[in-house]
Amino acid sequence: MRRTRKVKILATLGPASSSEDMIGKLFDAGADVFRINMSHTDHDAMRALVGRIRNVETQVGRPIGILADLQGPKLRVGKFANGKVDLAVGQSFTLDDNPAPGDSERVYLPHPEILSSVQAGERLLIDDGKLELMAVKCDGKSIVATVVAGTHISDKKGVSLPDTDLPVGALTDKDRADLDAVLDADVDWVALSFIQRPEDLIEARKIARGRALLMSKIEKPQAVTRLAEIIELSDAIMVARGDLGVELPLEKVPGIQKQITRAARRAGKPVVVATQMLESMISAPVPTRAEVSDVSIAVFEGADAVMLSAESAAGQYPVEAVAMMSRIAEQVEKDPLYPGIINAQRSTPEATGPDAISLAAREIAETLRLSAIVTYTASGTTGIRAARERPQVPIIALSPILRTARRLSLLWGTHCVVSPDASDLDDMVDRACRIAMEEDFGKEGDRIIITAGVPLRTPGATNMLRIAYLGGANASDASA
Ligand code: PGA
Ligand code: MN
Repeated sequence: MRRTRKVKILATLGPASSSEDMIGKLFDAGADVFRINMSHTDHDAMRALVGRIRNVETQVGRPIGILADLQGPKLRVGKFANGKVDLAVGQSFTLDDNPAPGDSERVYLPHPEILSSVQAGERLLIDDGKLELMAVKCDGKSIVATVVAGTHISDKKGVSLPDTDLPVGALTDKDRADLDAVLDADVDWVALSFIQRPEDLIEARKIARGRALLMSKIEKPQAVTRLAEIIELSDAIMVARGDLGVELPLEKVPGIQKQITRAARRAGKPVVVATQMLESMISAPVPTRAEVSDVSIAVFEGADAVMLSAESAAGQYPVEAVAMMSRIAEQVEKDPLYPGIINAQRSTPEATGPDAISLAAREIAETLRLSAIVTYTASGTTGIRAARERPQVPIIALSPILRTARRLSLLWGTHCVVSPDASDLDDMVDRACRIAMEEDFGKEGDRIIITAGVPLRTPGATNMLRIAYLGGANASDASA
């Protein structure tokens, strides 16, 4: 089974898609990686989902990636005596440290770190920005604010602080417990929410100890400001447009999306574009024209993956949403303008062997119209370098390590196959050719290009390029 599309599809699992049957259907429709949202999934449910995904993986015989998304420091107000109160623009409203139920003048804010950090003149956005407050007087225990926009507030609504640098790390106690559980369940990627600064990755990195790769969700203005440093310390990036569009003016999100995808591509870090991509498909079998256009933009930008949230997790048409996303991507990638747009964003290689080899492999493969670039990658680094080049021909990443193949399933244009290490150079060529044919990337007489590190099994030492004929005798003296 091979996909003909280069961009990958990440589908969030939830009540609409938690059975093994449904996960299988989503995979068949085009989902390459599944996301488990720890904001809405307890540990037993998470382990059950991981087990079902692994069963589907065995049935379909293809490595499937799993991303566990940690909730992060999502801030919420307390409760109200009547559940909800009406507010008027211009009135005063206070958030304080008193756990008593709220009324139309005040509510409990169970986060001392916010009470002590917010300064007069800073905004508090409640309920995805539907209510905007401006702090006027802060004494460390309460924030007296003025209602700038909005008409009501109710129990447990989220609080966003676009102007305040919070002294909180990215991991809450819940996140730490969730992180331990998802690492034990052997997920491949962990997404960190509400990252503000590069240091926010340190603790998760220490806990993960290489067992999973880390994806930073860019959803705070503070993270956009320090984007380059955060990308440097992350294994992948998510453009988390939901919260980004609350914390920043909505009209800034498209430009920031471009800025993030370009910076991530330049650094060779996988980048995912997320949230509301086909939102109307939560309750309709077809998306809006604007949503189709939005997905196409992410594909034209060369994002590694596009993501579905509620569309696949809680909507009425999860399979249709994945299938639609897949069709849009395939069509964009066939567009005559697509290769030129992708090439225009390609960045100069770094001065390393793997980068130079990946660039050469792409140029040779495109010049000679080869059927595939086959890369041997144990840790995954060489696979990532190959994908960074965004070649027009498919990449087949061969790894002896199942965990690597699962991780790389997120990568643009990369078909991952688990294959034992080659015993010598001839075996390496034969094996690459055989797998390329078996996986339907070419027929006898077609040619592929192979990259590897020689001597074999030396991590990060990609230093060899070889053109080979499928189904033919590839004697060692015929190397290119
Ligand atoms: P969420 O993250 O779905 O966990 O909020 C994505 C986003 O904010 O866009
Ligand atoms: Mn978010």
